[in-house]
Amino acid sequence: MTSIHIPRWLRAPSPGWTTSADVIVVGSGIAGLTAALRLRERGVTVLLVTKTLLTEGSTAWAQGGIAAALADDDSPREHLHDTLVAGVGLCDVPAVTALVHEGPTRVRELVTLGAEFDRGSDGAISLTREGGHHRDRILHAGGDATGKEISRALIEALHRVKGDPGIEVIEHALVVDLLQDDSSRVCGATIHVIGEGQIDGVGAAHCRAVVLATGGLGQIYSSTTNPPVATGDGMAIALRAGAVMADTEFVQFHPTVLFLGDDSTGQQPLISEAVRGEGAFLVDVHGVRFMQGVHPLADLAPRDVVSRAIVKQMAATGTDHVFLDARHLGGEFLERRFPSIVASCREHGFDPATTLLPVAPAQHYASGGIRTDLNGRSSLPGLYACGECSCTGVHGANRLASNSLLEGLVFAHRIAEDIVERFEHGELPAVTPGPAAPQPPRDADPVEGPFSPALADTVLLRSAHRKAIQHAMTDGSGVVRSHSSLASTAAALAGLAAADDGVEGGPKSWETTNLLHLGQLLTHVATLREETRGGHVRSDFPDRDDAQWLGHLAAVRMPDGILATSFHPTEPQDLS
Ligand SMILES: Cc1cc2nc3c(=O)[nH]c(=O)nc-3n(C[C@H](O)[C@H](O)[C@H](O)COP(=O)(O)OP(=O)(O)OC[C@H]3O[C@@H](n4cnc5c(N)ncnc54)[C@H](O)[C@@H]3O)c2cc1C
Repeated sequence: MTSIHIPRWLRAPSPGWTTSADVIVVGSGIAGLTAALRLRERGVTVLLVTKTLLTEGSTAWAQGGIAAALADDDSPREHLHDTLVAGVGLCDVPAVTALVHEGPTRVRELVTLGAEFDRGSDGAISLTREGGHHRDRILHAGGDATGKEISRALIEALHRVKGDPGIEVIEHALVVDLLQDDSSRVCGATIHVIGEGQIDGVGAAHCRAVVLATGGLGQIYSSTTNPPVATGDGMAIALRAGAVMADTEFVQFHPTVLFLGDDSTGQQPLISEAVRGEGAFLVDVHGVRFMQGVHPLADLAPRDVVSRAIVKQMAATGTDHVFLDARHLGGEFLERRFPSIVASCREHGFDPATTLLPVAPAQHYASGGIRTDLNGRSSLPGLYACGECSCTGVHGANRLASNSLLEGLVFAHRIAEDIVERFEHGELPAVTPGPAAPQPPRDADPVEGPFSPALADTVLLRSAHRKAIQHAMTDGSGVVRSHSSLASTAAALAGLAAADDGVEGGPKSWETTNLLHLGQLLTHVATLREETRGGHVRSDFPDRDDAQWLGHLAAVRMPDGILATSFHPTEPQDLS
């Protein structure tokens, strides 16, 4: 395989303003908002920046719910077991243990904060079941609008501290790259703000620690359930700065995304697993149920199993979709339990109460990302990551349904506690970016720094290349991969990487270049992993191969820009 060069910086104008805070939190989903609120509560000054509006991100789109072992007949131990099974041997047991044991407390705190989950006639919070769970442990809100309600509660809590000078919130603020001192310690970020007055355009924000909570990378594929902001920025930013990335090849494709025809691209309507949890089932174009016999949980098998079965059935029947049959659940029940899904289906001309719903797998979740420890620390001093952009080890090769909101909640909280404790011990003192980092302009004159294309390892692609990246990724690094498909994708991406158009920067080109760098990383590690496991499916290596591949692929950008990979074996897990 040819080596991959990842540049250090995205080309951007020299910073025209500066600001500072103890901690910069990037992103306003469940992870970013939780981290920011908790840090502020503990007396740390926070700058919270988000690319567009506070409400934008995958969190607000989450339908099914949030998992927590709250029922009398459930336990963290059983939640742990189901999570490990879904992760196909690659979950990090201490991380999952933290998730399932701390999850119930964090979810109760969310309720205290104001999140209103659906309740039964007895007033108790209703719990349902989703794929891969053996107990009813999914809390939901507004029927199928769980994320919206969680997002609302967190944003309202943020508004309650609006007058607090210790927390500054900037919307329409896109983080471009990280600032580091001489020892690679992360001590700030360059941020592009569409603002007014002093803070407008690219600036430099200095801090003692950065928390990346920038969500997923769904827009790297032609078809995804993720919103437009999910361009993998935080992952690409961390990669360029030299943070270790892990498990990037494990991408979850949701099996039941409404199929709107081949030409339909971008964010597609998701039909939550919870609909199958309530009794809907899959049939092929001939009306034949095909999940029975494939897995003991049949239609509620883990997502990778269902996605793969759908791809196989589509190939066998020569079609590009299968159908979800929810008609027997009845219009009244469907409208009450899944109001958003029913409305979205009807908007596209399908009534789940009367018609079969055409569905096909589409990108849904990035199981890997910025490698962190149990406290959310990345491999770079001063850099933390939580939520979908991180790889805490909770998901292994495949995420269990409704574990991602919980992961954001639990690990953002852990990060806040860790930062407070370190600050109390005098760790992470304020530093200024060293000569290797871009310098803000002095006085009115912009200074030459690594932002200057002539002096630095910079790159930027025109946003017009985004479709080419998405097509290459979908064709070769998508639901089913092979050596030859991955090689074609790698070649297409290398061609694009060589075509630096000399553009000067702007949100769309920064996002597009982030997608390119992540596409190169993902395709590279997907080529190396010669087996099928979880969200990584190889047609040329159709079986799981524990003898060779029971472990994690890590990747890091070396100081010379070359992407280096390493394999880290793990111990077999006894899941009997
Ligand atoms: C349709 C759908 C349904 C889902 N259903 C469920 C479910 O039922 N249960 C579950 O557990 N999970 C579900 N998920 C997954 C879950 O919603 C996400 O994994 C989770 O919300 C991620 O939270 P986050 O805080 O990490 O990121 P997000 O909520 O995606 O937030 C990321 C934030 O970072 C900001 N950002 C990104 N780049 C930059 C940048 N460069 N500069 C500044 N800000 C930036 C974004 O604008 C956004 O505010 C679903 C996802 C989708 C898309």
